[in-house]
Amino acid sequence: MKVVIHWFRRDLRVTDNRALHEAARQAELVVPVFILEDALRTGPEVGSGRLAFLLAAVEALRKNLAALGHSLVIRQGKAEEVLPQLVREVGAEAVFCNKRYEPHAVKRDQRLFNALNARGVGFETFKDAVVWEEREVLTQAGQPYTVFTPYSRAWKARPVPVPFPKLGPVRVRPPEVRSDPLPLDPAAYGHPLTQQIDPAGESQAMDTLKRFMAGPVYRYAATRDYPAQEGTSRLSPQLRCGTIGIRTILARLKAVEESADAAQRASCEVFRNELIWREFYLQILANFPQVAQGAFRPEYDALAWRNDPEHFAAWCEGRTGYPIVDAAQRCLNATGNMPNRLRMVTAMFLTKDLLVNWQWGERFFMRQLLDGDLAANNGGWQWSAGTGTDAAPYFRIFNPVSQAEKFDPQGGFVRRWVPELAAFPGESIHQPWQNLLALHKTGYPQRIVLHEEQRGQCLAMFEAVRHPGGRAKVPKANG
Ligand SMILES: Cc1cc2nc3c(=O)[nH]c(=O)nc-3n(C[C@H](O)[C@H](O)[C@H](O)COP(=O)(O)OP(=O)(O)OC[C@H]3O[C@@H](n4cnc5c(N)ncnc54)[C@H](O)[C@@H]3O)c2cc1C
Repeated sequence: MKVVIHWFRRDLRVTDNRALHEAARQAELVVPVFILEDALRTGPEVGSGRLAFLLAAVEALRKNLAALGHSLVIRQGKAEEVLPQLVREVGAEAVFCNKRYEPHAVKRDQRLFNALNARGVGFETFKDAVVWEEREVLTQAGQPYTVFTPYSRAWKARPVPVPFPKLGPVRVRPPEVRSDPLPLDPAAYGHPLTQQIDPAGESQAMDTLKRFMAGPVYRYAATRDYPAQEGTSRLSPQLRCGTIGIRTILARLKAVEESADAAQRASCEVFRNELIWREFYLQILANFPQVAQGAFRPEYDALAWRNDPEHFAAWCEGRTGYPIVDAAQRCLNATGNMPNRLRMVTAMFLTKDLLVNWQWGERFFMRQLLDGDLAANNGGWQWSAGTGTDAAPYFRIFNPVSQAEKFDPQGGFVRRWVPELAAFPGESIHQPWQNLLALHKTGYPQRIVLHEEQRGQCLAMFEAVRHPGGRAKVPKANG
C-alpha cells in the first residue's frame, strides 16, 4: 500500500491544495501532519496574534480533516527530526508538501530532500502558494523582473489555472499514530494574546472572500486607500496561512468580473494587481534572497541611520505626536492589522523622518502583523525606505499631514485610535499642535521631530551615500 505523508505548512486547507491533491491522487493512504516547529513559537519575530491565528487555523484544519475521516497528526519539534521518525512509524514512501520560497525554508527543504532520499524516501514539493513562480515569469533576456508594471503585464499574459478539487473522504483506515497536544492559547507558549484578532480557518476565509466579492471589490479602487472606509479584502492573514488558495480567489474574481460593468471591472483589475504584487515580492525574495539580510541596492546598506532608541520606541507605541502615524501604530498593536496606505506612511515616517533603519521597522511589523510575511513585509519596507527594487525614489518622502488630510479627510480613523484627540474638529485633528492650549489638555504628545527639518536630513543622508565626498544636489519636495 502506497503511503504518503502530506506535511501542512502555509497551506492549512483541504480545498485547492495542490500537494494534498497530488498525495490523494497518488497514494492509497495520506497521513496529514502539522509540525509546530520552534521557529513558529519562539524567537524575536513571533507575535502573540499571529501565533494565535496560526493555532486557530490548524484547529480548523484538524476539524475539516476529521469531517472527511482523516486524522491530523500534530507534532512539536524540528521537521528534520520529526519527519524521518514519522516516515518510519507509518511506512511512508514519500513526504509531499507545497513549496516555500523563503531562503531559510528553501535550505531546510533541501536538507530534508537529501536526508529522506538517502533513505530511499521521496520528498516532493509542489507549486501552490503562487500562480507563477520565480523562474516562470522572466524578461525576454531570461532575467527576473525587478519592476512591477512589466512584471504584472507578463503575469497577466498567461492563463490562470483553476482551483484543485477538495480532498475526498478517507479510503483506508489510518494507523494509530501519536499526536502531540496543541494548546490553542498562545500564552501556553509564553506569548499571552495582546491583540483582538480576526477568526482563522478555511470556512472563515471563504466567508471573507464571498463577502468581499459580493460588492466591496467593485468599490475597491475607490476605497482601498481610505482607512476609515475599510474597503479592502482582509484576506492577507488567511493567504499567509494558506487557509485559502490563490486560484480560488482568482476564480471568484473572474466570475464576478463577468457580471460587472466597465467601472466595476476596472476596480476588480486593481484588486488583481494587488494579488500580483504579492507574487512580485515572492519572486524578488526567491531570486534575490540577499534582500532578507540587507538592501536590494547594496550601496544603501551604508546609510548612516540615526537609530535613536527613544524615537523608535515612540513610533512603536504610537506616541510620535503625528496623529495619523500614531493611529496606525496603535491599530497595528491592537489588531495585528494596518491598512496598506498607512503601512507606507508609517514606514516612511520611521525611515525618512526618524531616520531609523528600515530593518528595525521590518522586525517590529513582523512581530505585530497577523499577515507578517517575509517577502511582502521586506518588499514593503524596502519600497518605503527607497532601498528596494521598484521602490519609491529616495527623495519621495510622504508628508504625514498631507497624507492624513488626503486619505482620512474627516479624521475618522485617527479619532478611533487616538481618542484623546476626538474633540479636534474636522481636519484639525491632523495638526493638533496648531492649538497648543487644547493639545495640552489632552495629554497627547508634542511632535517628537519636525517633518520639514527631518526631510532635509534624510536627503543629506542619502546623498552622502550616493555621492560620497561630493556636493549634495537636493531634489525638490513632494509627498
Ligand atoms: C511596510 C509594509 C509592510 C507590509 N507587510 C506585509 C506583510 O507582512 N504581509 C502581507 O501580506 N502584506 C504586507 N504588506 C502589503 C499590504 O499592506 C497588505 O498585504 C495589505 O494591507 C493586506 O490587507 P488586505 O488583505 O485587506 O489587502 P487587499 O488590499 O485586499 O489586497 C489583497 C491581497 O493582495 C496582497 N497584497 C496587497 N497589497 C500588497 C502589497 N503591497 N505587497 C504584497 N502583497 C500585497 C495581499 O495578499 C492581500 O491580502 C506590507 C506593505 C507595506 C507598505
